[in-house]
Amino acid sequence: MEAKNFIEEIINEELEKGVVDGVHTRFPPEPNGYLHIGHAKSLCLNFGTAKKYDGVCNLFFDDTNPSKEKTEFVDAIKKDIEWLGFKWYEMHYASDFFDTIYELAVKLIKDGKAYVCDLTPEEIRQTRGTLTEPGTESPYRNRTVEENLKLFTEMKDGKYQDGEKVLRAKIDMASPNINMRDPVIYRVLHATHHRTGDKWCIYPMYDYAHPICDSMQGVTHSICTLEFEDHRPLYNWTIENTGVSHKPRQIEFARLNITNMVMSKRYLKKLVEDGAVEGWDDPRMPTLTGLRNRGVPAEALKAFCEEIGVAKANSEIEISYFEHFIRDYLNFNAERAMVVENPIKVVITNYDKDGEVLDFDINPNKPEDGKRKINFSKEIYIDGEDFSLDPPPKYFRLKKEGYVRLKNAYIIKCDDVILNEDGSIKELLCTYVPESKSGEDTSGIKCKGVIQWVNANTCKDMEVRRYEYLLKDQEYAGQDFSERMNYNSVHVSNAKVEEYLTTCADNLSFQLLRKGYFKTSDKNGKRILSEIVTMKDSYNKK
Ligand code: ATP
Ligand code: MG
Repeated sequence: MEAKNFIEEIINEELEKGVVDGVHTRFPPEPNGYLHIGHAKSLCLNFGTAKKYDGVCNLFFDDTNPSKEKTEFVDAIKKDIEWLGFKWYEMHYASDFFDTIYELAVKLIKDGKAYVCDLTPEEIRQTRGTLTEPGTESPYRNRTVEENLKLFTEMKDGKYQDGEKVLRAKIDMASPNINMRDPVIYRVLHATHHRTGDKWCIYPMYDYAHPICDSMQGVTHSICTLEFEDHRPLYNWTIENTGVSHKPRQIEFARLNITNMVMSKRYLKKLVEDGAVEGWDDPRMPTLTGLRNRGVPAEALKAFCEEIGVAKANSEIEISYFEHFIRDYLNFNAERAMVVENPIKVVITNYDKDGEVLDFDINPNKPEDGKRKINFSKEIYIDGEDFSLDPPPKYFRLKKEGYVRLKNAYIIKCDDVILNEDGSIKELLCTYVPESKSGEDTSGIKCKGVIQWVNANTCKDMEVRRYEYLLKDQEYAGQDFSERMNYNSVHVSNAKVEEYLTTCADNLSFQLLRKGYFKTSDKNGKRILSEIVTMKDSYNKK
């Protein structure tokens, strides 16, 4: 199997040497918030790697922090993963393994490899040493096994207050790696857990619990982000010293960062709590529920994650690169429709029929999607952008005495401009070329401009929402998050739209011709058009 990143190279080598005989990964969210686009990267990597090697991937909830975790988040996380189309093999919670994790701590005590420490969290921090100086051994380090067993049982039985005692691994206070200086592996925490209720008042620390949970699930490759690299010795220490039989391997990769996007749950939570956005699913949010609500197709998100690959060093991806994938997907898959803004009324003076039904191309990139019907009539609206009283050279839209083609309809010529008293345009008097009907044009007139239009008799008014990024540009990078916030990121306007846009389904994506990609959306019981991504690609392929 050809390796397409360094993780696959490691796997290939292990398979060849017989170190592993298959691949079993897990996606390990903490249910303390909603998933974001960074998690999508981790999901694609864990599920994708398992699939490539015909292996499996578990969904593993790391719920060792009862005070911040909620069932609401568990449910939301599952829904997001399903949206991306990934199917987990087994689902587990760290809390499913609390008994085993506890028993293994007892074993460490019996083996003289863990001790109960009475130092306060502050004292533990102060005696940990620095990068250049070793730490100081705790005065409780040499308690007897019997005493440690008794105290640890008392911790479990609720005899102590939060922070009064901890269980520490007895490793090496002089280790160059601070994580190995007798790390805390259990703490007293009188908190109700969203799954185990009040059964426990001691909880294991992540670094100690995670390798055990990986092992219990049969995980072969525990893929995590780079900041855990320095924790790997402790991961391995735990695997070796608890004596678990299955031995997984931790591999770190660089987390995904994208310009103009916040990606830490802590900040996202603050945005929601401060009311800076409408909720976790606000279309400006980089959460998966936000992206889904925005109208970003799951396929586009996955294609992006695949394409950016897996790196060993942190970097930042241009947001325009992500948008490029959304646009690409929608260009090939979204229906087309017409809307006009700042409408200008056009009266076609030589059109003497009541109206007629024309064929409209649903998606020129997918001819198999066919056509739908649109109504044409004597009075239409065109976009304010598509007419100029004072056109520059090479102006191919409508101007006085000029010709333009109405999309999927006829060529018209502007004969006269009727102005209001204030000099603004009241309406345009035009004539149409009867033999120029799209698809059967025999007029011989060459028209460079094609513009969208709506039928004045049947069009509807609809609210249009466009969005800017929540975070200002890179020039603000490094500044405090609150200073980078863009507090003016929603723009609401109005358009005249084809009637079809009022009757089609909600959450349907469209390319609104020459406007951008939008979806129909329900806003407080009202149908609106909500921007997914702009029309123009600003991504520089270099
Ligand atoms: P945050 O810092 O946003 O709270 P986290 O790392 O605490 O994220 P977890 O729920 O612990 O979130 O993460 C689940 C998995 O997703 C972990 O393996 C984590 O490393 C990975 N992950 C989180 N953020 C990113 C990211 N930006 N890029 C790639 N992987 C990520
Ligand atoms: Mg975390």
